[in-house]
Amino acid sequence: MLIILLGPPGAGKGTQAERLVSKYNLDYIATGDILRNAIKSGSPLGKQARGYMEKGQLVPDEIVVGIVKERLMESASRGGALLDGFPRTVAQARSLDDVLQEMGLKLDHVIHIEVEEEELIARLTGRRVCRDCGANYHIKFNSPKVRNVCDQCGGELYQREDDSLATVTERLAVYKKQTEPLIDYYAAQKLITTINGNQEIDAIFTEICTLLDQQKP
Ligand code: ADP
Ligand code: AMP
Repeated sequence: MLIILLGPPGAGKGTQAERLVSKYNLDYIATGDILRNAIKSGSPLGKQARGYMEKGQLVPDEIVVGIVKERLMESASRGGALLDGFPRTVAQARSLDDVLQEMGLKLDHVIHIEVEEEELIARLTGRRVCRDCGANYHIKFNSPKVRNVCDQCGGELYQREDDSLATVTERLAVYKKQTEPLIDYYAAQKLITTINGNQEIDAIFTEICTLLDQQKP
């Protein structure tokens, strides 16, 4: 099973991905996480990506496509993969189509999580992430049992640098201009399903599972 989670920053892709990869035993490929880890480790990739990410802009297509291709090769031998945050431009989507064709794979679903802008800003500016395991929380909507401590691993929670109001505004504008055209791109391939992301986390998860279970052979 090969799935893409598409939606604006803050739509809840990472939150749903955490649950989906566990339920369906999928390899989780989140380009944002891969890039943040590269920055943390001080690798050449991190050095290339840092400036773009701090400004809320996209990292160049050729860099991200290379990362995803490598990861897909690794996951081809397993049950499937969930892509989160990739593709983000039509050029990335076209490259992904080429890579999948070369590998003899095909996309099963593109799940588009739709949320209105005001809610996205509230979600992103209140988001907290575990430094150790990457689990996502929100100070109001999805708070940990103990303040700033991860329920799952006890790690420390932090606020991402690009979740400041100024950078969030830029990221939402970048989404509209560069990523939203993918909705039509995948609609033309009859692969996309739009889910109302303004619901509770559990309700969204149930809706996605119903979709995936229906169409499983
Ligand atoms: P994305 O990966 O799409 O950028 P996240 O999954 O990190 O988004 O979610 C952004 C923030 O919103 C997080 O703080 C998360 O806890 C919170 N969140 C996710 N889904 C919901 C929801 N359905 N309702 C309220 N808050 C949510
Ligand atoms: P995310 O964790 O998905 O919110 O991504 C954080 C940041 O990483 C983005 O604002 C971009 O700078 C960068 N990034 C993540 N995925 C991609 C991608 N597919 N293409 C370009 N840049 C990306």
